[in-house]
Amino acid sequence: MCGIVGYIGKKEKLTKILSCLENLEYRGYDSSGIAYLKDNQINIVKKKGRISNLKDNLEESETTLAITHTRWATHGEPSDNNAHPHKIDKVTIVHNGIIENYLELKDKLQELGIKFKTETDTEVAAALLNKLYNDKKDVFEAILAFQKIARGSYAIGMLIEGDNNLYAIKKDSPLIIALAKDGYFIASDVPAILKETNRYITLEDLEFAKITENSLTVYNQNLETINYEVKVFESGVEQIDKGDFEHFMLKEIHEEDTVVKNTFNYYLEHLDEIPDITSYKKVEIISCGSAYNVGLLGKNLIEKYLDIPVNVQLASEYRYQKQFTNKDTLVIAISQSGETADTLAAVKLANKKGAKTLGIVNVKESSIARETSQVLYTKAGIEVAVATTKAYLSQLVVLIMLVYKSKKIRKELAEEEQLLNEIKELPKMIKELIERKDYYKIAESIYKNDDMYFIGRGIDYYIALEASLKMKEISYIHSESYAAGELKHGTISLIEENTPVIGVISNEDILEKTMSNIKETKSRGANITIITTEEITKSLDSDTNLIVVPKVNDLIEPILMIIPFQLLAYETAKLRGCDIDKPRNLAKSVTVE
Ligand code: GLU
Repeated sequence: MCGIVGYIGKKEKLTKILSCLENLEYRGYDSSGIAYLKDNQINIVKKKGRISNLKDNLEESETTLAITHTRWATHGEPSDNNAHPHKIDKVTIVHNGIIENYLELKDKLQELGIKFKTETDTEVAAALLNKLYNDKKDVFEAILAFQKIARGSYAIGMLIEGDNNLYAIKKDSPLIIALAKDGYFIASDVPAILKETNRYITLEDLEFAKITENSLTVYNQNLETINYEVKVFESGVEQIDKGDFEHFMLKEIHEEDTVVKNTFNYYLEHLDEIPDITSYKKVEIISCGSAYNVGLLGKNLIEKYLDIPVNVQLASEYRYQKQFTNKDTLVIAISQSGETADTLAAVKLANKKGAKTLGIVNVKESSIARETSQVLYTKAGIEVAVATTKAYLSQLVVLIMLVYKSKKIRKELAEEEQLLNEIKELPKMIKELIERKDYYKIAESIYKNDDMYFIGRGIDYYIALEASLKMKEISYIHSESYAAGELKHGTISLIEENTPVIGVISNEDILEKTMSNIKETKSRGANITIITTEEITKSLDSDTNLIVVPKVNDLIEPILMIIPFQLLAYETAKLRGCDIDKPRNLAKSVTVE
């Protein structure tokens, strides 16, 4: 969520620094801004809308010191004025996160005569840092005091008038510092700097850094210098380039065969890294959005194959209800970025309750990866499109591998060889599914509608939840997912002539029941599409859209089932002319609670 890029070094073009910020566009934002040093003055330009808008209003220039920002508004509307950087007297900052006690601090600062020009919590942070700096006449003392007073989460890039160094301050919001050839960059995520360098360090909570043109020093709360470890980001820069694909989302869908293969292969070869979950009395899965939906699939599989009760919880709700988490609980936290603030907060609470926590995350050494007792990395590579596709599938593969490992330990994998053969065949089947041409035709029949419904029973309901989320995220069609049998208890009243209803049927056992529910909507005029593993053509009306997915072992079937829905959402959003990779109001890495 939002992005920070800062630069200090020999000299760099403003456009080059902003191109690093553009590599964070996928995180979602509504305005952007830059503060840069020129002729010993700090110049600030900030604009609502895309970075391109900022660039149009910016002189062509070079600088030795700059901080830039894409804002995802939390406090105050998206506007030129509320955009970052915020400058109060000597202090200029960009900030990612939320200062929770900003109102209380604002009152106190106003009493001291400080005037605020924006509605943001960030301007309050700038004013506080400035006041502390004026009081203490020392940057480090000011930062330490700020960390004691400000509550909430912050990754901050800071400039001080007349000081000409770059400061980075961090708590509960990610911040890295990259070591480039002729200087340093700070950034909220690695993709920002990959075209400049792949060497970086990660700031830990409550650490801060002073960066000069040719030195980097990291301090802890006791003002001791930290011996940081320089990490090298291995996977290639090509991942932040969409190549010949029209959108990152389409590119990432086309990578799914490889991602599924890599994730399966890795864990089949490293079975010892996977914990045996049969030793736990219960499992709790905490996650948000698509990761919540994949958690529901995990619940279905773990309960069905291992007989362990699983409670899936929205991470944002976990803290506000009674937790039954204890030392006998395995808490699985799922997050692509590993920075999802709600999930991170829930993991911290679960740790306190004595549970074993297991992270399923895509980004190495992310906050959730570090906070959980054990982590299983998904092998999805960098995912740029806001709407997750390949990362969701790789999370599902890890959940399947958890079941596989425990079944193996229990010696219950009767059809192991056949299952392994099917796993081997999966990438080919995925490729074939992706290359089919029928999604466009179905999208054409639904894209003009304002509302639509996805229905299924059992595990298909959980697939429908993700299918529906994908559709609404990127096409902005109001879409709901219902347990097929529940429709008649209320929602069927919304079905009108031509309302799209998409039925999910992955299993013969529930075929007839779900088909009855689909027919009920058809009788009320719905435009029906069915995605199924069954050749049910006989009982279908000629105007029903049908996509048949290959039938494989039930444990791995959901992998194939979800792919048509991703492409259907993609084609529909494209027909509606939506900004597919950067849907409005959404952020990729949701680092605020
Ligand atoms: N809370 C800050 C604001 O609304 C920062 C939001 C962000 O992380 O972009 O300005």
